[in-house]
Amino acid sequence: MRAITLLPGVQNSARLDDIPDPPPHEGSILVRTLALGVCGTDREIVAGLYGEAPPGTERLVLGHESFGEVIEAPPDSGFAPGDPIVGIVRRPDPVPCPACAAGEWDMCRNGRYTERGIKGRNGYGAERFRLEPAFAIKADAALGILAVLTEPASIVAKAWNQIERIGKRSLSWQPRRLLVTGSGAIGLLAAMMGQQRGLDVHILDRGSDGAKSALLRDLGAHHHTGSVTDLGIRPDIVMECTGAPQIVADLAGLTTPGGIVCLVGLGGDHEVNFDIGRFNRSLVLDNDVIFGSVNANRADYDLAADALSQADKGWLARLISRRVPLARWSEALRRQPDDIKVVIDFAA
Ligand code: BGC
Repeated sequence: MRAITLLPGVQNSARLDDIPDPPPHEGSILVRTLALGVCGTDREIVAGLYGEAPPGTERLVLGHESFGEVIEAPPDSGFAPGDPIVGIVRRPDPVPCPACAAGEWDMCRNGRYTERGIKGRNGYGAERFRLEPAFAIKADAALGILAVLTEPASIVAKAWNQIERIGKRSLSWQPRRLLVTGSGAIGLLAAMMGQQRGLDVHILDRGSDGAKSALLRDLGAHHHTGSVTDLGIRPDIVMECTGAPQIVADLAGLTTPGGIVCLVGLGGDHEVNFDIGRFNRSLVLDNDVIFGSVNANRADYDLAADALSQADKGWLARLISRRVPLARWSEALRRQPDDIKVVIDFAA
């Protein structure tokens, strides 16, 4: 079968390969891939900056944002041939640590977790893949190919879940205003889930093209450009989706007292001026929280699937800005200016 494989750590070693079908030990559910989403992590892996092949092999099958259709599944798996399906990315570490033992592999404490298509396990960028039933999510058939957004939505659903748990530290917590920084797929999904919660949604980006502005307008969100310090609003919650050091630095002290800032972006490494004294004062005197969030566990995937099911399908469809057939897979990994979510179409 055809698969996108690469040598981790070796820049531009990715190629469309012919590899054997997935071995049964990878899971009892056999899936035909229909679409694969591409994100910044995939681009970093292809650039040789990240990624790890499965033990005993040289090449890694790329891809962690899956969507497919069940070919075969055991009767007790909860799946039947034809079912739309999405695979969970992370697998618990083998020890397992207390978090992984509790099914919270997204909170793994010893770093020995593996991730499909990223760290020590082959990904979903192959014409067929296998899944263990415990790591398979049944997609809403009404979503069709939009179910490929389940994995990025799971990252956002986890972040929201954590924010709401942190918010409960105060019995009177009633957030009204959300600021999202960054309007990529993660930022737009964060804004969408904020809108689903009835929040007044603001989104800050570098000034985006017409398609993104229209997406934000249709969501009822306020669109800002420029710097965080010029915003003139005080959000109760911030979802930081850029990882840009200057934006992260500027967020300290921006929120209302008791504010919560969730960092989900990974960005540049350059140094910025940062007043750590002011940072400390604003966090202490205002009971603010700034925290990071990565990956998602099974419960988060279920929340993500629900959020996507409740969303406007026409709006979601506009998040998929490019569909590239598998034969031209490399085009999907080259970023274009108005990309939101680029998808490799395995069914084309
Ligand atoms: C994936 C996560 C993963 C993270 C770190 C992200 O792109 O969506 O599932 O945990 O990369 O590898």
